[in-house]
Amino acid sequence: MTEVKPKKTVLKDVKIFKNLEDEIIKTNKCCACGACVAYCSSQGFDVIKMEGYTPQFISDANVDNCKECGLCYYICPQTDPLMDKLDNIYKIKDEMGYVEDVIAAKTTDEKIKEVGQDGGLVTTLLMYLFETNKIDAAIVSEYDENLKPLPKIIYNKEDLLKSSGTRYTISSNLLPLVDLYKVAEEIIQKQKQIYDINQLRMAFVGTPCQCRAVRKMQLLNISPTHVIKYVFGLFCMENFDYDKLFELVKAETGLEPKDIAKMNIKKNFFITSKVNETKEVDLHKFDPAVRNHCQECDEFTSRFADISFGGSGAVQQNSMLILRSEKGKKLITDAIIEGYVEKFVPKKSPIPEWKASKLNLLKRMTNNKVKK
Ligand SMILES: Cc1cc2nc3c(=O)[nH]c(=O)nc-3n(C[C@H](O)[C@H](O)[C@H](O)COP(=O)(O)OP(=O)(O)OC[C@H]3O[C@@H](n4cnc5c(N)ncnc54)[C@H](O)[C@@H]3O)c2cc1C
Ligand code: SF4
Ligand code: SF4
Ligand code: SF4
Repeated sequence: MTEVKPKKTVLKDVKIFKNLEDEIIKTNKCCACGACVAYCSSQGFDVIKMEGYTPQFISDANVDNCKECGLCYYICPQTDPLMDKLDNIYKIKDEMGYVEDVIAAKTTDEKIKEVGQDGGLVTTLLMYLFETNKIDAAIVSEYDENLKPLPKIIYNKEDLLKSSGTRYTISSNLLPLVDLYKVAEEIIQKQKQIYDINQLRMAFVGTPCQCRAVRKMQLLNISPTHVIKYVFGLFCMENFDYDKLFELVKAETGLEPKDIAKMNIKKNFFITSKVNETKEVDLHKFDPAVRNHCQECDEFTSRFADISFGGSGAVQQNSMLILRSEKGKKLITDAIIEGYVEKFVPKKSPIPEWKASKLNLLKRMTNNKVKK
């Protein structure tokens, strides 16, 4: 009879990166959030990397470096483990998630008005957090010269305007955390007077799937998400493959990425060129560019955020906000009191009815997405 080695029996039950590859990555369910690589690399394990939008072993020689800890599998927002616990913690009972309050609002800052996607509220609240010394850094997404999203940690409010606006292609916003422990002394010690990087206070902006990954990591209390103090979630109906999207944009409008100033989805796709000409294209024309993992996604309004932000349901140049935590509610209340944010006051119906109708609309949109 062969002897049973307890160590191997335990490891057999733990799902590891190879399982993540088989179940999520090779089946095109990976949303390219970067959480698996951010965690593993921040531990110095030297096993996996992000190649474009695909997490993979750094090389064949690195496969054996895997500690088989299984954490990459557990924290992946596309796997089942931990979801029951998360739903419990974040009081999620239905498709909308926990709603403390719903409001519409816009920025009072003229510069943010110009560059913000809807009410410019994400940028404004980040500005408020920087200016009141409640955060030292934020994870946002910028554009390169070809409109490719560049996920980035920024340390100064001066860098905020470059990140305003929506990129309708993947920005792997957890990935910059890979470099958390390599932040230059210049920034941390001289500018922020922080001598232990673990004391950094960061805000995170991301899509619903990315916020789910952050919350899974925080549930396990693992680095590097321990520095995230505010989670700002975006509404997200779908996201697009960069190459396919811009191939279709070129075919429909003749515009190359370098010619485009802004893109916006409001029922249809609106593409504004740098000479300020806006072209409207039927959104369905871009269906072939929708990322595969978005086809089965059941989140629209970022259920795991402190505050969720979208344009749907808000009047022009306003954002719709779902406040989900005490922290989120206090933040927006303070920003309104301090004059950073102007709250929308409905004139045609009493406020409770207005709120109920907006929540119904967002519920319907979420249900339509799930049915699709
Ligand atoms: C892929 C995608 C699909 C969306 N679909 C809808 C929708 O169907 N309905 C709806 O109401 N709203 C949708 N939104 C949200 C909406 O476009 C705005 O982001 C939101 O209303 C906030 O606007 P704002 O003016 O407050 O933000 P701003 O002040 O303009 O700030 C936007 C913030 O979003 C970050 N960001 C931009 N692109 C990305 C990205 N790809 N990944 C992660 N972070 C990013 C920026 O870094 C910035 O911090 C979507 C957003 C994305 C990224
Ligand atoms: S060491 Fe852990 S986190 Fe890294 S790839 Fe292996 S199982 Fe995943
Ligand atoms: S953690 Fe994110 S990047 Fe890694 S496999 Fe899962 S979805 Fe993809
Ligand atoms: S539709 Fe879902 S899976 Fe796709 S980017 Fe948005 S939240 Fe992530």
